[in-house]
Amino acid sequence: MSLLNQNYECPVCMEDNTIENNLEINELIECIICGSELEVQNTSPLLIIEAEMDAEDWGQ
Ligand SMILES: [Zn+2]
Repeated sequence: MSLLNQNYECPVCMEDNTIENNLEINELIECIICGSELEVQNTSPLLIIEAEMDAEDWGQ
């Protein structure tokens, strides 16, 4: 079992990024480059999407 980091492309800033390999589906992570909140949609193959923001406090 590998504990190596793996690469992914941030869906927000489109930069290559690395992340630990012990992710769980629906885990929230943060892009270390742009700081966006991301969500692990799938782990095999790895699929990272932009996390849906809670819009309540943002729409004003
Ligand atoms: Zn990013």
